[in-house]
Amino acid sequence: MEVRVQNVRKEFDRFPALHDVSLDIRSGELIALLGPSGSGKTTLLRLIAGLEMPTAGKIFFGDTDASEKTVQERNIGFVFQHYALFRHMTILENISFGLKVRPRSTRPPASEIRRRAMELLDLVQLSGLEKRYPNQLSGGQRQRVALARALAIEPAVLLLDEPFGALDAQVRRELRKWLREIHDRTGHTTVFVTHDQEEALELSDRLCVMSQGRIEQVGTPDTVYDHPTSPFVFGFIGESSELPVTVENGELWVGGRAIGLPAGDAKPGNARLFFRPHDVELIEADASLAGVVSTSRRVGGTRRVELEIGGAGHLVEVDLPFDHPAGEKTRLAFRPKRWTLFPAT
Ligand code: ATP
Repeated sequence: MEVRVQNVRKEFDRFPALHDVSLDIRSGELIALLGPSGSGKTTLLRLIAGLEMPTAGKIFFGDTDASEKTVQERNIGFVFQHYALFRHMTILENISFGLKVRPRSTRPPASEIRRRAMELLDLVQLSGLEKRYPNQLSGGQRQRVALARALAIEPAVLLLDEPFGALDAQVRRELRKWLREIHDRTGHTTVFVTHDQEEALELSDRLCVMSQGRIEQVGTPDTVYDHPTSPFVFGFIGESSELPVTVENGELWVGGRAIGLPAGDAKPGNARLFFRPHDVELIEADASLAGVVSTSRRVGGTRRVELEIGGAGHLVEVDLPFDHPAGEKTRLAFRPKRWTLFPAT
């Protein structure tokens, strides 16, 4: 099911949690809402679910205006961070719940409900545990049950609010891969809230980066990572360094010297150069970007070096070996191989 969020504003006691948000979610895609705490991700998810009503704007499910419809009418599957499983029900009863409470006219027969619940138990790889109670499962297993329960009603849209947020890093990574597989098999339109960049990049077809109640950028992981449209997105989506530069004669300048990078079609004047630590090479040179090694740490197969230049530290990932100790005033300069230029604010 396609979902269109159109010029939605949401205020809580006059506080605008969402300003004027529009987002087209494609049928069958897995889209991540990514942003720092308080950026409005959960509010947007709850509006799509029908748990909150917009102050202004509309939400369409397909061609139908869903703005006034309830959660049940929208047919939403929801998974929260804290496993909201029914403690007094077995796993099988939990999964069957949504179908059992349907009105008689749309409720499948008991045998069909059981068959479907067992099938889902198999899908989430928990066959054999149907008679257990939630407190007899691990956190990761409980979230699998929560997902099976959400899928049981054949939801038009599946909404997940930091579903792995309470789990440890390894279980989180496993469930991430697993969720992607399940999504590819079932094909539900899925909206996934996370503040974890890596999770969003790995899991989603597209991501929607939010900040302060606004959408900053929507795109595939590759587009958003490689072509961020704002300094905020550049810094939020991965590690970044920033250098104030001047654009002059079609080149970039720092401290009155050209640094050997073309300015493209940037306007003359001050600008902000952004780059990622792994997109930089170090060169031996007497250049304006030469600096002092402030820290040098080995991380896996590379070394991460912080070079201090003009009072600001810049993280650079270099190939081994690197024989300059911390504190050394080097004649090393760094040259970004890939970078993005934003206008100065
Ligand atoms: P987090 O990652 O911390 O969950 P979020 O991006 O999901 O953050 P929201 O929960 O959507 O952010 O909150 C957005 C803003 O709206 C916050 O400033 C929050 O304090 C405010 N807000 C959310 N719900 C309510 C509410 N029921 N009443 C008043 N303010 C609210």
